[in-house]
Amino acid sequence: MLSYRHIFHAGNFADVLKHSVLIHIIDYLKKKDKPLCYIDTHAGPGKYPLDNEFALKNREFDSGISQLYQRDDLPPAIAHYVALVKELNGAGALKSYPGSPLIAQHLLRKQDHLFLCELHSTEITLLTKRFKGVRGVDIIHADGLKHGLGLLPPSQHRGLVMIDPSYEIKQDYRLVVDTLTAMSKRFASGTYALWYPVVERDRINRLEKALIATGIKNIQLFELGIRADSSGLGMTASGMIVINPPFTLAAEMERALPYLSNVLGENNTGSYRIKTLVHE
Ligand code: SAM
Repeated sequence: MLSYRHIFHAGNFADVLKHSVLIHIIDYLKKKDKPLCYIDTHAGPGKYPLDNEFALKNREFDSGISQLYQRDDLPPAIAHYVALVKELNGAGALKSYPGSPLIAQHLLRKQDHLFLCELHSTEITLLTKRFKGVRGVDIIHADGLKHGLGLLPPSQHRGLVMIDPSYEIKQDYRLVVDTLTAMSKRFASGTYALWYPVVERDRINRLEKALIATGIKNIQLFELGIRADSSGLGMTASGMIVINPPFTLAAEMERALPYLSNVLGENNTGSYRIKTLVHE
């Protein structure tokens, strides 16, 4: 049974990188008028009220989005992300944090279509309620990796698959590689964004090697660390691995990641990585 609930972590440093990258990809894909397909394999509930007791338990947003909310020296990709979070808060104080489905739905257009998959019984109920009656959004109570694969290739022939597992089940590290391999065979021109946590560095080294070994081309990695790697101290860093990224993404991250590692890093121990895993 799944027990992970993202509300405990909403708006933390990992969400800052994850959602800034997501926004940049969607904005890039929107440069063409042609319809887009957005598939969120691990959608979560859609939105996180930050006055909820679960969000307040560890107040992870305090060391993520809250650190950026009032700053006026943000690099462009981060300024854009913070502006979107502010817009969804009615330009007022930070009261709620948007999840990937809400961010995508806010940015996408009437010609685009969203498929939001979620497995957890509480989260699917919240997600269904949030998007009830919203045009162009399908909510699916299913395993997002299996269901997402079945949706490919999309009829639009253009799109983004966002894969944001909780890695509660350790096989997820293998499953995401197998699924991305199968997905890119069905839809080679699609953009894929995979989130990963650094809890044990070895696991991520293996994930990178496994992705390189798939033969998939054009893979970039962007990672933000807020403390030095260590075992037993929880998540020290997290990253996004993007297949077929916008050609503009690396340059944006070259500006954003040094800034974020400096502002969000604990006691000057922030770090970042930008790496091409496989060339085009
Ligand atoms: N993407 C969300 C966001 O940005 O707000 C957060 C997602 S959270 C990290 C991971 C979610 O995946 C959890 O809500 C969990 O219940 C769900 N989940 C876990 N395994 C799943 C699976 N196989 N298929 C679909 N959802 C799954």
